[in-house]
Amino acid sequence: SKDEKRTRKETLVKLLRWHFGYQDFRGKQLEAIEAVLSGRDCFCLMPTGGGKSMCYQIPALAKRGIVLVVSPLIALMENQVMALKEKGIAAEFLSSTQTSSVRNKIHEDLDSGKPSVRLLYVTPELIATPGFMSKLTKIHTRGLLNLIAIDEAHCISSWGHDFRPSYRKLSSLRNHLPDVPVLALTATAAPKVQNDVIESLCLQDPLVLSSSFNRPNIYYEVRYKDLLDDAYADLSSVLKSCGDICAIVYCLERTTCDGLSAHLSKNGISSAAYHAGLNNKLRSSVLDDWISSKIQVVVATVAFGMGIDRKDVRMVCHFNIPKSMESFYQESGRAGRDQLPSRSLLYYGVDDHKKMEFILRNAENKKLQSSSSKGELSKKSLTDFNLMIEYCEGSGCRRKKILESFGEQVSATLCKKSCDACKHPNLVAKYLEELTTSIARQRNGFSRVFMSRSTDMIDEEFRIDEQFSEFWNRDDEGKSSEEDISDFDDETEVVKSLPRSRLSRKSGVDEKIELLQRAEENYYQNKNFDKLKNK
Ligand code: ADP
Repeated sequence: SKDEKRTRKETLVKLLRWHFGYQDFRGKQLEAIEAVLSGRDCFCLMPTGGGKSMCYQIPALAKRGIVLVVSPLIALMENQVMALKEKGIAAEFLSSTQTSSVRNKIHEDLDSGKPSVRLLYVTPELIATPGFMSKLTKIHTRGLLNLIAIDEAHCISSWGHDFRPSYRKLSSLRNHLPDVPVLALTATAAPKVQNDVIESLCLQDPLVLSSSFNRPNIYYEVRYKDLLDDAYADLSSVLKSCGDICAIVYCLERTTCDGLSAHLSKNGISSAAYHAGLNNKLRSSVLDDWISSKIQVVVATVAFGMGIDRKDVRMVCHFNIPKSMESFYQESGRAGRDQLPSRSLLYYGVDDHKKMEFILRNAENKKLQSSSSKGELSKKSLTDFNLMIEYCEGSGCRRKKILESFGEQVSATLCKKSCDACKHPNLVAKYLEELTTSIARQRNGFSRVFMSRSTDMIDEEFRIDEQFSEFWNRDDEGKSSEEDISDFDDETEVVKSLPRSRLSRKSGVDEKIELLQRAEENYYQNKNFDKLKNK
C-alpha cells in the first residue's frame, strides 16, 4: 500500500542520512534500491559520478546478510572497502593480493552462522573458481546472500570498450544461484552493450533504469589541427592559460605521448608520458606523481583508463581523434567528476581521421580473413567512428551530437552555451568552412610513410592477438581483443607476463586459462591502480 511504501522509503532515507550523511537519494537510486530489495533483477545505467555504488550499499545495510559486489579492479575494491570501513560499515574484499591470514579471517567469518560482513567485494576471476562458487551456494542456503551487484557490467560485452574475458564467466552465477537478484551497473550508454549485458548475465525481467548522460559541467570544444600552425604549441598555451590544473591528454600512439609530453615539459608544464611501453615501475611513479599533484598533466594512451579515480580532473584533451563516440564519452567523462566546471578539448586533424579509418578498415580485413562472421563487428566500428567525424566536422551543438548518439532526445536549450558551437557559432562556422577547403586541398595526400608504419603496427597487433586467442579457443574464440584496438596494450602485457616456463603447447586448456586468469588479475592490479589507495 501507499503507506507501506512511504515508510519503506523513509527507512531507506534514514539509512542514507545516518551512514553517508546525504540528505536524499539522487536520480534513480531509490528505484534501483527498492527493486533489488524486492528481489527483482535490475540494470542500472548512470553516468560516471551518478552514484551507482549507493544502489547496492544501501541494500546491504537494509537487510540482514551479505551483498556480493563484483568489481574489475582490486585497487577500486580496496578504495571502496576502505571508505566504507571509515564509515563503520563492515565491508571486505577478497583477492590474491591479500596475505593468507587476512583471507582466512574473512573466510572464517563467511563460514560462520552469523557473518559480520555486509558487503563482500570480489574479482570476476574469483567467481570463476569452483571453490568460491560452492562457498557462495552455502551462504545462500543459509539465507544470507541478498544481492549480487556487478559493477562495470559492460566489461562482459565484447561490444564494449573495456571487455574483460573473465567477466564472461559471471553468467554462471545465474545457474548456481538462480533466485538471488542481480544488479548490473554501468556507465556505458551504447544500446548494443546494454542488451548484451542483460542477455549475458541472464537477467530476468530486469527493471531497466537509465539516467541522462548529459554532463552539464563539461564544456566541449574542438580545435582543428589543419588550421593551426602548431598543435603542440596550441595545447601548451591552452594548458598554460589554465593555471595549475589537473589534466589528461590522450594520444593514439606511444611516440606521440613521449614527444608531446617532452614538449609540454620544455614549456614549463609539468607533465609525463604514460603508456604500456613503459615499465611498471615508471608507470607507477607517473601515476603516483599525478595523483599527488606533483605533476599536472599525464600524456597517455588509452591504457590510462578505468579506475583513475581522481575527481578533480579539470581537462581531458584528445590529441588524436578517438575511435568511437563511446570511447570519447568515457574518456572525456573523466573530467569533472566533482561536478565543477571542466573542459573537453579535442584536436581534430584530417590526417588523424585517415589514420584511424585506415586502422579500423585494416582490422576489418584481418578479421574477415581470420574468421567468417566478424564482418558485422567492423561495420559497426566504422559507423561508430563516423559519429565521431560528425562531431568534429558537422555544424551544430556538440553536446547534442554526443547525447543523440546514445539515443537521447535533446532539447534545443540543453547545452546552455557550454560548447564551442553554441557559444561561438560564427567562429565555428568559419572554421568548418576553412576546414572544407583544406580537406579538398589535401585529398589523396595520404603519405606513404604513414601507410607502411601503420601496417607494421597492425601486423604486430595481430601477431600478438593470435597468441592471445590461442588461450581463448574454448568459448571466447576471437572475441579477445580483435575488436578493440584500445585494449591491445593491456592484453599484450597480460600475454607477455605469462610464465612461459610453465606453459607449453601441451598444457591443457584449463591450465592455460588458470594461468591466464592469474596473469590477468595480477596485471590489472599492478596496473598501478593500487597506488590510489594512498591518495
Ligand atoms: P559512480 O560509481 O556512478 O561513478 P559513485 O558511486 O562513485 O558514482 O558516486 C559519486 C559520488 O556521489 C560519491 O562521492 C558519492 O558518495 C556521491 N553520492 C552518491 N549518492 C549520493 C546522494 N544521494 N547524494 C549526494 N551524494 C551522493
